[in-house]
Amino acid sequence: MPIYAYQCTACGHELEALQKISDAPLTDCPACDEASLTKKVTAAAFRLSGGGWYETDFKSGSKKNVATNEAPPSPACGTGACPACQ
Ligand SMILES: [Zn+2]
Repeated sequence: MPIYAYQCTACGHELEALQKISDAPLTDCPACDEASLTKKVTAAAFRLSGGGWYETDFKSGSKKNVATNEAPPSPACGTGACPACQ
């Protein structure tokens, strides 16, 4: 279950809440009772989405294939196969 960080735009109060993804975001600040909480992107969440994927999945062998498949040869202009010429 992810931890969400919130900050109140009215008084600056910060809190973290353990919530299900399906839960509605919190809005009410426990410090000043204003409905001014905004969800922050936490450093922990950023690390989870940003790292590890390439290292674990592309470490062995397939890395070269990914690189070569990234730029397939374009069809030559004038052959009718080039989308820009039609
Ligand atoms: Zn507040």
